Amino acid sequence: MSSNVFGNTTLSIDNFVDTSFTGTFANLKDVAGLNPLERLWAAYYGYIGNDLFATGLLFFSIHEIMYFGRCLPWFIIDRIPYFNRWKIQDTKIPSNKEQWECAKSVLISHFLVEAFPIWLFHPLCTRMGISYSVPFPSWSNVAMQIAVFFVMEDAWHYWFHRGLHHGVFYKYIHKQHHRYAAPFGFAAEYAHPIEVALLGIGTVGSPLLWLHFTGDLHLFTICLWISLRLFQAVDAHSGYEFPWSLHHVLPIWAGADHHDEHHHHFIGNYASSFRWWDYVLDTEAGVTAKSTRESKMKKAAGNIKKNN
Ligand SMILES: [Zn+2]
Ligand SMILES: [Zn+2]
Repeated sequence: MSSNVFGNTTLSIDNFVDTSFTGTFANLKDVAGLNPLERLWAAYYGYIGNDLFATGLLFFSIHEIMYFGRCLPWFIIDRIPYFNRWKIQDTKIPSNKEQWECAKSVLISHFLVEAFPIWLFHPLCTRMGISYSVPFPSWSNVAMQIAVFFVMEDAWHYWFHRGLHHGVFYKYIHKQHHRYAAPFGFAAEYAHPIEVALLGIGTVGSPLLWLHFTGDLHLFTICLWISLRLFQAVDAHSGYEFPWSLHHVLPIWAGADHHDEHHHHFIGNYASSFRWWDYVLDTEAGVTAKSTRESKMKKAAGNIKKNN
């Protein structure tokens, strides 16, 4: 089997003398215009020689490396008392045992929930017209699309997460994720498989919806998007609020400060990446938001009395 990673060009790994991974990478040096990342991508697909398997393995590896790789610094920070001054719920430092059990459960769920659908991803994407050949699209194109995916996923997450807080949905599905009132990195994907699948649709479905309507998407962009979305989810559960946290620079960004309130109060702040949905629909969590809401309601009640 050979790969279509070279698209419509006449290039093929079969023409290379050394078809090992490093050999292909070295051979691609002579192909004009390919940067090291594109060469790495092409050498990977070329060397594996089975695009379906290559994409499945790539996405599974990205998920594990990015998720656990991003959780690790938070795990270490939790063990260093110096950082406690920035812990939002500073009396609730998770124990080693708690973190280990949570990480183990997430890892098992990754294997059980992803093992099957991940192999459908490549055929689905190629049928929808995705590109995975080299060269990659421009960085500005990649950045613009990822920004759109963040907005799309946030909307999906807001409504479905809010829905999961209703009656039976909470009791049988979402309650698992709320086991930790003071979240930590590993808890980001600690959830019932139905929740993982439902909220996962927002992450995977956003780029696919974009692809359906524009016909313009590269698999590399999805890799980067998934990585950044994982970073966002883990960071939102980190439990730390620093003076240099992103929302101080970008006030619409949610971050840990926003999501920690959700875990603490079990209600409000349903969005994942941005603050606008909760602000506009008056579902902000926390003591300040609650008192603002109450005074607004009192004022409205007063106006009704006056008018009567
Ligand atoms: Zn929730
Ligand atoms: Zn959460």
